[in-house]
Amino acid sequence: MTDANMPGVQGSLVYSCIGCGNEYDIYDFVYTCPVCGSLLKIKNLDFEAYRKVSPARWKEIFDSRKNTNLPELSGIFRFHELILPIVPLDDIIYLGEGQTPMVRANPELSAWVGAPFLVKNDGLNPSASFKDRGMASAISFLNHAIKVKGIDNVLGICASTGDTSAAAALYLSYLPKSRVRAVVLLPKGRVTPAQLSQPLGSGATVIEMPGVFDDCMRIVEELAQNYHVFLLNSKNPVRILGQKSYAYEVAQQLGWDTRDLVVVVPIGNAGNITAVMEGFIDLFALGIIPGLPTILGVQSHHANPIARWRETGKYTPQKVAPSVAQAAMIGDPVSFPKVNKLVKDHFDDRFHVVSVSETEIMEGMLTANRHGHVVCTQGGESVAGMKKALRGGVVKGSSRFVLDSTSHQLKFSTFQQMYFEDSFDPEYGVVTRQDLKSKPVSLEASADGIAGYLGLKKKSSTP
Ligand SMILES: *Cc1c(COP(=O)(O)O)cnc(C)c1O
Ligand SMILES: [Zn+2]
Repeated sequence: MTDANMPGVQGSLVYSCIGCGNEYDIYDFVYTCPVCGSLLKIKNLDFEAYRKVSPARWKEIFDSRKNTNLPELSGIFRFHELILPIVPLDDIIYLGEGQTPMVRANPELSAWVGAPFLVKNDGLNPSASFKDRGMASAISFLNHAIKVKGIDNVLGICASTGDTSAAAALYLSYLPKSRVRAVVLLPKGRVTPAQLSQPLGSGATVIEMPGVFDDCMRIVEELAQNYHVFLLNSKNPVRILGQKSYAYEVAQQLGWDTRDLVVVVPIGNAGNITAVMEGFIDLFALGIIPGLPTILGVQSHHANPIARWRETGKYTPQKVAPSVAQAAMIGDPVSFPKVNKLVKDHFDDRFHVVSVSETEIMEGMLTANRHGHVVCTQGGESVAGMKKALRGGVVKGSSRFVLDSTSHQLKFSTFQQMYFEDSFDPEYGVVTRQDLKSKPVSLEASADGIAGYLGLKKKSSTP
């Protein structure tokens, strides 16, 4: 990589209200507009200057960084100019996030789903979910802001369905303990044991509360409103900046050719799908991709306010029922107003949402994993959503599909176990299939005994 392709500190970022358009200093930790209460997004006031750079030059810059030895540019900050150009390389926190692989579905799985596809496995991030992308940007920004503003005693806090807290606790634990504390709020009994172990292992203060995610979110919003805390939910638009990298990577991994592309994304709080859409909008605005892809959101029918909005034109917050896609089990997605605006202004009929059943999600996950993948229940939701959208004619089979598997299978192995043991609470409504179940077999430690069990034929002569 030549020095000319090294990122410099540039740009001028502000929070911009999606309601009234007011702008606020990026170093003020605000999460909603103090004037009208709407969500904020981050605007680069110098973005126009980027348009003077040719698309070919942008591709050359981003492609040249593929071979970098600098940890700081090895992850999401390969796209430094489009994420946080005000943060110098020295302040970037890189823990191994981003640049996740795209794995081609094999012919059997493609046939079962209905068309060929690629799985972009975001379970292969350091805390095993895509949340690390947004945490890398939020914590790099915090690290930078602490230095610029001489801030001490920061309390980083989030509400979580499990993965945000794992990511927040991990990234915060990298910063000096003398200056930064980590606190996470979880709905008691509504995160998996693996997810609970993660923030505990990173040394965060873990607070369990009665209720579901939406209840935790309300408390954290109140704390962020009335106390000095650094909010690490995707309501903080700095998180969205990092999560846009998913879109940049998909485009780059496809050689910047996004024609006929459909990206399948499970929706919970709608931060991720917001970021994916914004990422593609950036690339299109700079001429780096020829057009916007189609975005196919997927929700469980137990938590599908955005699917219902798309169907009826009316948005109503919903009381959720238990879902195996627990990380997406959210009845009132915080980022809905952003989705609404992005669809109206940019995506229009290139945005669809399908609802899938709990049984379909489990079958999607288990079937994918029996064909070489390691997808979580939300990844299974993507698989089920693509299958359903193809069958319903929502998307064309001739499209090219990239499915977001948002976390690692192992985080959600408890749901696999419930399926294998038929121990789901009836509220989930999961109907199991015998041929998708597995359990270990106990045998004596004898080669002949095991060979007998497996029906192996003995070699005629053994020397
Ligand atoms: C958070 C999360 C989601 C949902 O993403 P949103 O940004 O909340 O829509 C989906 N899958 C996994 C594994 C998650 O952790
Ligand atoms: Zn406003």
